[in-house]
Amino acid sequence: MKQRQVHILHGVAASAGIAIGKAVVLDTRRIERYPKIRITASLMADEIKRFNDAVRASEKQIREAIRELEDHNVGKEHSFILETHLMMLTDPSLTGRVKELIATEHINAEWALKIALHEIERNFESIGDEYIKSRVADTTFVGERLLRNLIGKKTKKFHLLEDSVIVAHDLSPADTAMLNKEKVLGFATDVGGMTSHTSIIAHSLEMPAVVGLENASTLISPGDRVILDGISGVVIVNPSENQILEYEHRARSFLSLELKLKEKAKSPAVTRDGKYVKVKGNLEFKDEVRTVLDHGAEGIGLYRTEFLYLNRNHVPSEEDHYQAYKAVVEAVSPYNTVIRTLDLGGDKFYSSLGQLRNEMNPVMGLRAIRLCLKEVDIFKTQLRGILRASHYGNTSIMFPMISGMEELMKAKEILEETKEDLIREGIPFDENIPVGIMVEVPSAAAIADILATEVDFFSIGTNDLIQYALAIDRGNEYVNYLYEPLHPAVLRLIKFTVDAAHNTGIPVSMCGEMAGREIYTPILLGMGIDILSTNAFAISHVKEMARKVDLDQCNRIVDHIFHMKTAQEIYDFMEEEIVGKSPEIFEMH
Ligand code: PEP
Ligand code: MG
Repeated sequence: MKQRQVHILHGVAASAGIAIGKAVVLDTRRIERYPKIRITASLMADEIKRFNDAVRASEKQIREAIRELEDHNVGKEHSFILETHLMMLTDPSLTGRVKELIATEHINAEWALKIALHEIERNFESIGDEYIKSRVADTTFVGERLLRNLIGKKTKKFHLLEDSVIVAHDLSPADTAMLNKEKVLGFATDVGGMTSHTSIIAHSLEMPAVVGLENASTLISPGDRVILDGISGVVIVNPSENQILEYEHRARSFLSLELKLKEKAKSPAVTRDGKYVKVKGNLEFKDEVRTVLDHGAEGIGLYRTEFLYLNRNHVPSEEDHYQAYKAVVEAVSPYNTVIRTLDLGGDKFYSSLGQLRNEMNPVMGLRAIRLCLKEVDIFKTQLRGILRASHYGNTSIMFPMISGMEELMKAKEILEETKEDLIREGIPFDENIPVGIMVEVPSAAAIADILATEVDFFSIGTNDLIQYALAIDRGNEYVNYLYEPLHPAVLRLIKFTVDAAHNTGIPVSMCGEMAGREIYTPILLGMGIDILSTNAFAISHVKEMARKVDLDQCNRIVDHIFHMKTAQEIYDFMEEEIVGKSPEIFEMH
């Protein structure tokens, strides 16, 4: 029998917890190199037959996958995605177009397929159309499967039959959507940082994750036994029995501490000197709302709505929006739900989908509010859905990526037009719905005093604010060591934003990952942040920290660290001041 290699890999501890299980290595890299051949008319029929064979092979594979899932009684939702893929194989906008291109352009099937896929992606670009003809994420998957069948490469399975630790180079939103998550124990990826998509998804699914491992997907073989330690950012491949026993013990203590904190998290957090600290939850998918509330969230501080645009056949309709938001608003009310308008683009749309457009710097490109202001129909459809849902409970609207006053005024103008339409149509909604913005672009922080006069609240998005202020890609494993929430520049931007908001009389939340790390809680309270909104897992930790401090102490900490020159100096001080004095909360960090 082949000796399995032992490795200890170090990465970024992206989501706490310990998983021990078999590795499933997903092949998430796309095929970039494929043959491009011009064919003569006499070979055309053969080429079309070759393509038809690839379609049939793809169909067979998908049907087998569905059968396998049914036999193992798992993944209803997952089978549904696969059924959609089957339908796509008969959709003329893809397969019909490929055959047409082979016939008219006299090119081989691989080339024709790539062109057809490109066209579909471009259609998505002209999003102003009523409907996108095909769901882009799934089209990419189906296209990749067809391409692999054409060039004789196997498509690795994306459905899991037993509990598994997922190992991949990277996981895009579309990749994670393809997984039947009830069988996932945790995630290990080569790329990524604390705030990349895999980390955020892992948090919201309450699963351990280690990212930025650089070469996990090449070093780990399918079936390897793996210990994934999302607390210290370590992955042990093929561990000894002793290591397994030790980690099983650690996993048990982690879970029991978590359980204790979680119980307490259902009561409000009040500092030692009596200040109530509101802690809300961040939501990625509407189905998580119960989990987030069970973890003690006092409302939803950030409802990311991007999930609505992935894994469906067309751009979400007003009804899709409305139903998704109404369900959450009703479940959360009387607490408040902040629904953030579309933030697609940048890191939220990469790998499987390709970029919306071929942009050199997609993170600084046509994304979020910029995309919405260009594609006003899409924006208005979402706004109508949000406004209609607001009739059923306490709702706020939040615009992402605002960088200046013009953008904000334009977004507000479109919102006003949408409200007027609804009034004209006699459709009820909350006419006083609060409107806020994410402060996540440094220019917005720098003019926070001006922007504050035009909104009802701010929510600081530190994931992007840090990325843009420090010029480091938040998903890049080579520079993630520079991702420093305590960088004096970041702290100054936050402080300026909070002061500007308070001078104008509006509240400030923080909904970036920084809000969910309890070592920062005293600093954030000292700077005057009014509401912290975090992933479900962190709520209990943040509340527990808030209970341990008093505001005087927090103010003193802020005064003190504002005289410091580096993030490291501040971090060391916080370790001594806070971690040393409350070791039990930090046991797991
Ligand atoms: C942020 O940028 O901090 C944020 C909360 O938004 P997202 O992570 O969705 O970009
Ligand atoms: Mg952001």
